[in-house]
Amino acid sequence: MNAAQDDFFNFQKGPLDDSGWTIKNVLSLPIVNKKEEIVGVATFYNRKDGKPFDDMDETLMESLTQFLGWSVLNTDTYDKMNRLENRKDIFQDMVLYHVKCRKDEIQNILNTREWFDKEPNECDEDELEEILEDELPDSEDAEIFEFHFCDFEYSELELVKCGIKMYYELGVVDKFHIPRETLVRFMYSLSKGYRKITYHNWRHGFNVGQTMFTLLMTGGLKRYYTDLETMAMVTAGFCHDIDHRGTNNLYQMKSGNPLAKLHGSSILERHHLDFGKTLLRDEVRLPSPGAGVVRDELPPLTE
Ligand SMILES: [Zn+2]
Repeated sequence: MNAAQDDFFNFQKGPLDDSGWTIKNVLSLPIVNKKEEIVGVATFYNRKDGKPFDDMDETLMESLTQFLGWSVLNTDTYDKMNRLENRKDIFQDMVLYHVKCRKDEIQNILNTREWFDKEPNECDEDELEEILEDELPDSEDAEIFEFHFCDFEYSELELVKCGIKMYYELGVVDKFHIPRETLVRFMYSLSKGYRKITYHNWRHGFNVGQTMFTLLMTGGLKRYYTDLETMAMVTAGFCHDIDHRGTNNLYQMKSGNPLAKLHGSSILERHHLDFGKTLLRDEVRLPSPGAGVVRDELPPLTE
């Protein structure tokens, strides 16, 4: 339509400003995104040759505005993605707050307040070692080297202590200068990361770690691996079912659990791995005396 000749439109006849610029003709098109929503309007003024815009111009500009629509959608999506990312970080922070070993909880093992009247991070490694020597179980009495080890006689906290003792027996605490506080907090957090369910609970996680430990130490497999590898294998055993929900992968798929949407296959297995890595990463980041040594010697965790 020729809008300028239509009574409905009241076009300004004279120049718009001091520069003398006058609107002679206008081509205005909606900017539509991929979802068929109008997200803006593109307006073109005054064809260079002074003639009115024609059908050809309209077709040309239509394809241009299509690109504009897509890029607006892309920007919107990018914006939404950033917001989701922030929301995810907040949720992760909330979850970690409840999983991570609290300051009062670490005192159940590293009772520095009772021993030295200070917090673990105020103690040096020798002081922490003194407490652990007293607090950790005797390996033989606790039967951690035995294939017939049975967790029934132990509380969940005692299993955390047994787990810490295994790292000592593997000889990796001194070799990799693992800060005592980090080790204790990590094992404690692991035990809290398991849900209170019938089978796939912390006891099960511990049992798999202990079996791995026994295979290496009592079964003699340790000589085939480096210390870093043995440490990783036992840690993997402890972590292997963390945050298990007591239901299988098919259940996650059929119930439409977000985990099934995130992971295409081995749904829960990938989740245990993610969760374990998150806990490890979180511990390594925390400032602790000597923590830098571990950070330098261990290869970086990859996604
Ligand atoms: Zn398992």
